[in-house]
Amino acid sequence: EKDSTSNGTLGKAISSKSEKLNSKSKLEEKIKIGFSMDTLLEERWLKDKDLFKKAVESLGAEVEILAANGDDSLQIAQAETLIHNGVDLLVVVPHNAEAMAAIVKKAHSAGIKVMAYDRLVKNADLDMYVSFDNEKVGELQARAITNLVPNGKYVYIGGAETDNNAHLFKKGVFRVLQPLIDKGVITVVYDQWSKDWTPANAFKNMESALKANKNEINAVIAANDATAGGVIQALEAQGLAGEIPVAGQDAELAGVQRIVKGTQVMTVYKPIQDLSEKAAELAVEMAKGKLIKTEQKINNGKIEVPSVLLPPIAVDIGNLEETIIKDGFHSKSDVYMDQ
Ligand code: BGC
Repeated sequence: EKDSTSNGTLGKAISSKSEKLNSKSKLEEKIKIGFSMDTLLEERWLKDKDLFKKAVESLGAEVEILAANGDDSLQIAQAETLIHNGVDLLVVVPHNAEAMAAIVKKAHSAGIKVMAYDRLVKNADLDMYVSFDNEKVGELQARAITNLVPNGKYVYIGGAETDNNAHLFKKGVFRVLQPLIDKGVITVVYDQWSKDWTPANAFKNMESALKANKNEINAVIAANDATAGGVIQALEAQGLAGEIPVAGQDAELAGVQRIVKGTQVMTVYKPIQDLSEKAAELAVEMAKGKLIKTEQKINNGKIEVPSVLLPPIAVDIGNLEETIIKDGFHSKSDVYMDQ
């Protein structure tokens, strides 16, 4: 009895969705994509928001965007709102990789497919994942730093433990470091996550690392430019900024300016325009009911998720002109503002 009732409800939700799709094509109503974002408190996510909106609209569809500023229950509530508002497909940047699995279930019972954008949703029947090759990000950082500092004491300042990407970045870093650790030429003297990716938490981590090692540190790999900013502030307080190479990620304006200034040696540039365009293209096709096959699949703990991973690019003082400036990611005048 109970079973048939719940099946009935599910069936109803799905059929009402397809009825809606049919009536949509009759009335030529626009496809609507929901975009549930973790935060807009960092530079890159503002770019993602604007570029994704532009890309979806250029495909003749529309998008409703909500951001939760790091609050898991708010992000779940907002995603429910988007489902309730009748989006045809939900795109999610999860604050918490595990917590957002609940939303995938809810979306599916309303007949809506879910795409993870940049960050994976774990342990869920996710329909699609579009991101960069995040392990490669860590590899690029570690390769650049080990070229500069082939031996010595290393510090790793990680991202948010709740973000699957933070684990992938770290995996990539240690893939390069481990053989050197095994040889005994490098020691990792400090390795901590930075809660919620904040510069303040990275600053505290770096202060502890310096204290515990009496300032005797030779290189720092920070998971992104925001945390690198916190690291460099802690180094500045000890008169060590520019003395100890620091790597970051995102090609944030502040990070790139620090490369010009010499307090950060590299960043990893991820062309967000490419990501947003690819995600928008697939989202609109999927919303129209098209089945997408991808070359890659990523295991999220539950299933093999069809995935598209774009290549990241290592950037230092030698190639920032031909990468981020050429692409218009930042203007030359902004990058060299303090010069
Ligand atoms: C993104 C990074 C970003 C970080 C903090 C990660 O999931 O891939 O680009 O810096 O989150 O927002």
